[in-house]
Formats: sequence, C-alpha cells, structure tokens
Amino acid sequence: MSDPEVSVVIPVYNEEDVLEALFSRLYPALDALGRRYEIVFVNDGSRDRSPAMLREQYQRRPEVTRVVLFNGNFGQHMAIMAGFEYCRGARVVTLDADLQNPPEEIGNLLAKMDEGHDYVGSIRRRRQDVAWRRWASKAMNRLRERLTHIKMTDQGCMLRAYSRDIVDALKASREVSTYIPALAYSYAQNPAEVEVAHEGGRRASRNTRSTSSSA
Ligand code: UDP
Ligand code: MG
Repeated sequence: MSDPEVSVVIPVYNEEDVLEALFSRLYPALDALGRRYEIVFVNDGSRDRSPAMLREQYQRRPEVTRVVLFNGNFGQHMAIMAGFEYCRGARVVTLDADLQNPPEEIGNLLAKMDEGHDYVGSIRRRRQDVAWRRWASKAMNRLRERLTHIKMTDQGCMLRAYSRDIVDALKASREVSTYIPALAYSYAQNPAEVEVAHEGGRRASRNTRSTSSSA
C-alpha cells in the first residue's frame, strides 16, 4: 500500500474513559475528508484498559489503525516522537486523546496546509481553562517571544499539523527537552494558525485534576 496522505499521531496514557468517544468521532471525521489516512496511537505505558481498547479498535479498522506500545510511561513528548518515527503520511497531525480539541477540526488544519503552509497551529476559540492557566500561558508566550521569536498564540493546544519535511527535521534533531510545537515552528518556513473549538475535555490538565481531587 502506498503511503497515506495524512497520519494522525495520538499519545495515550490511561485514557480508558474517553477512548470510545474518541474513536466514535475521530474515524467518521477522517472518513469524511476523502483523504487517505492512518491513525497512529502510541500507548505510553497505560495501566488501565487503554491498550486492550486500542487492540480492539485495531481489529475493527486494521487498514487505517496502527498501535505502538511502550513498555513503560515515558511521557507525552516521547510518545509523540515515537509516533513520528512510525508514521508514513505526507502530513502529520498531532492530537490529544482526551477530546480537548475536537477531531472534527482536523479537516480545517489540512485545508490551511493546502494553501501552502508547512506548519498549522491552532487557537482555541473559547478557552475554558481556569483564569490562572490563561494568565500563566500569556506570561509564557511573552517570555518565549522575547527569547526565541516564536509566535504561537495558543501554546497549550496540541492539535497541530506538520509537513513531512518538518517531521523529518524533528526526528533528525533527536531533541528530547524542547516543546514539540515550538521546535517544529523553528523549522517551519511558512507557519499559520487556525481557530478551533475548545471543549475543555474531561480535564483541564492532569495537575489541576490531582490537586482538586486531593483537596
Ligand atoms: N499523555 C501521555 N503520557 C503521559 C501523560 C499524558 O502520552 O505521561 C498523553 C495523554 O493521554 C493525552 C496527551 O498526552 O493524549 C495530553 O495529556 P493531558 O491531557 O494529561 O495533558 P494536558 O491536557 O494537561 O495538556
Ligand atoms: Mg488534556
């Protein structure tokens, strides 16, 4: 089979609560695009039913589904980098598993790429994050723009699309500490951003969740 036009890379860590909902929205959204695609799930050492659910989904849609299994928990960055190693698409979209960013927006990112951009970031239309998180994010943005000249309106949003050239540069860099979207941006020649819906998801973040549950 020839390489797909689009690879969607999704890191998965203990996402059993949301995976069914993700499957039921992601596959129809991609089927509707009429572009040849593959979805590469990277299971980052989940200790819940996530790997079993990924196996089941692979059996349902083997022609477009690939699953990479880590034997431990190495973090989101390593999971995405592993997805980049395995994916074959001419374009690569990263997406969180927890539905904080709607999979239905992938088509909009790809349409923006069709205009000639090699990097398309996304800006969440209606941020549902708590106030301190918005403030911290603004402060980080100002600092980064001063230090690196990287302009990224919404750095917390992992829904992004990269051209094959950018993904190959990321792989070759062997960088393990830099935030992937920022590193990718530094390799981009013609970056762009699109506005996407933001759903808040199951949680604003693992950190806020653990603080609130222990309070
Ligand atoms: N994730 C992962 N390994 C981890 C933690 C998270 O692969 O050790 C995945 C997680 O399943 C999700 C994405 O990375 O698809 C973002 O994680 P999370 O939603 O916890 O982060 P936040 O919303 O705070 O950015
Ligand atoms: Mg999240």
